[in-house]
Amino acid sequence: MTESKQRPEAVTNGHKGALIPPSTSCSDDEPNAWSAPGSAAFDFRSDTVTTPTAAMLAATRNCTLQDDVFREDPTTNSLEAYVADMTGKEAGLFVISGTMGNQLSVRTALGGPPHSVLADARSHVYGWEAGGIASLSGALALPITPSNTHHLTLSDILTHAVTSTDTHYCPTRLISLENTLNGTILPLHDCAAISHWARAQTPPIHMHLDGARLWEAVAAGAGSLSAYCACFDSVTMCFSKGLGAPIGSIIVGGTPFIERARHVRKGLGGGLRQAGVVTASARVAVDETFLGDRLAATHRRARMVAEMWEGKGGRLVRPTETNMVWLDLEKEGWSGEMFVERGVREGVRLLGGRIVVHYQVCEEAVGRLGRVMDAVLDKGAEREGVGNGVGNGVGEEARGVMAPEME
Ligand SMILES: *Cc1c(COP(=O)(O)O)cnc(C)c1O
Repeated sequence: MTESKQRPEAVTNGHKGALIPPSTSCSDDEPNAWSAPGSAAFDFRSDTVTTPTAAMLAATRNCTLQDDVFREDPTTNSLEAYVADMTGKEAGLFVISGTMGNQLSVRTALGGPPHSVLADARSHVYGWEAGGIASLSGALALPITPSNTHHLTLSDILTHAVTSTDTHYCPTRLISLENTLNGTILPLHDCAAISHWARAQTPPIHMHLDGARLWEAVAAGAGSLSAYCACFDSVTMCFSKGLGAPIGSIIVGGTPFIERARHVRKGLGGGLRQAGVVTASARVAVDETFLGDRLAATHRRARMVAEMWEGKGGRLVRPTETNMVWLDLEKEGWSGEMFVERGVREGVRLLGGRIVVHYQVCEEAVGRLGRVMDAVLDKGAEREGVGNGVGNGVGEEARGVMAPEME
């Protein structure tokens, strides 16, 4: 939890020679909002609540300040090259959000209609991006519910993909997979099988990965970044969730794809000027949170939270494979709203039955969460006072009660 210790050698982004103006108003020792996680330490609503650290502030103070539309900013160029290299891809493109990364990838990959995009019915790109597949790419989205209820497999794809030249149908030009999805892992062998089939089609079907939380799957030992990315022609990854950067995501892919994505990004108003101000923090997020192995500890804590719930007699809606724990509140007759309210009383922020553990959550917050669980699972007195919440749309529907920014 000690984010206040600065490690300047780790945050210079290799640009030690950059001009660093002397600090006038902000001493390194003076506490500010960057010095400690603050309210994020007690916030289980999402990993988007992670706050940037003192190391990120130090990196930002040392970043280069050139224009990225001119491709002249070393901090930004080096982040893009660095993550491309980590993922085994030729090139990378920093984007302001994961949604922009996904939508830009879809728009870049597709030609003109008629065309369709296959995606998991629960996926972010389909259900949580304001209909961008329709409005930005003019594509028909075909949402698929995985037959195994956990993740899409080749057999689901074969059942739903449109490869026919019959003019009644809308040909599948892109398959978008998501990993992790609701905190669960898409196995590498399923990605590989789908990819192998998609690339054998004429024309080949573009493989996109919404890897907003791919870092989590890799930290859980499901496969390496480059092994997963090898199955895809484009991959979006978020710096701003579990890795803790304040802003930003990246698309990685082949050079021609990324060149075109850069062109499309400009058209959507996503060209950034002094981008080093945000890419410097993203680099620290990769180095300190991902490579610094902080996600594995987060997963251990999530498992502890899941065991605590089950140990008290609660049921989980889905398995805890990374940093999310899905409590079956409905079974206990609790609505998401009741749960949130009880959390406020104990001093933790909650959002329905989905508990998201991130690296800034503190020990004390887990203790408080345990007291909220006690209230839910105590079949006696507690339920009297909290009204009739049976069937108020929790559990499977928990995403439906989340605020839009809580993804
Ligand atoms: C958060 C998220 C995104 C989008 O990220 P934003 O930066 O919030 O636009 C995309 N896909 C998944 C799976 C996400 O969880």
